[in-house]
Amino acid sequence: MNGPFFLPVRDIVRKPGEMREHRIDVTLANKWGEGIVTVEAGETLDIDVRLESVHEGILVSGTVDTTYTGVCGRCLTDITAPVEVEFQELFAYPGEEETDFEVQDDHVDLETLVRDAIVLSLPFQPVCQPDCLGLDPETGEKLTESTGAESDAPIDPRWSALRQITDQDDTAERRAAEKEES
Ligand SMILES: [Zn+2]
Repeated sequence: MNGPFFLPVRDIVRKPGEMREHRIDVTLANKWGEGIVTVEAGETLDIDVRLESVHEGILVSGTVDTTYTGVCGRCLTDITAPVEVEFQELFAYPGEEETDFEVQDDHVDLETLVRDAIVLSLPFQPVCQPDCLGLDPETGEKLTESTGAESDAPIDPRWSALRQITDQDDTAERRAAEKEES
């Protein structure tokens, strides 16, 4: 048995109800992900995993924490952010059930399961901050303040309702004044 994502299951195989918990740290040998953010080779994965023996095999569930790096999709600033994902899969005993995951001799190999969970959770359009303004289309410089678009924003509907009330009051006052004059 070897491999950074291998976990021993010999002592719980075919013993439904038995359970083991492991905490493993794995240093990635190769980067994960193909997008503009990836988990780089050399990054550490903290994996908390629970192995439960069930009739069909070993139920594997847990969480993995790591860090992804890349660039902001709008302004190209370097970004680094934590990512935490849950995973769960049944590793069946060989020949018992059609499955992508099988108990292999005395161990389960978590690599594909954990990698898929991480890669699917990486953002397709990562940003350095939610309101990143991106790059100036003319200068190519990173925009750091509003271009004035905000001042053209429509008035908050609550304020426009207030304005209507004020207008009505004005009209009523004017009418009252006109009455007094006449
Ligand atoms: Zn940005």
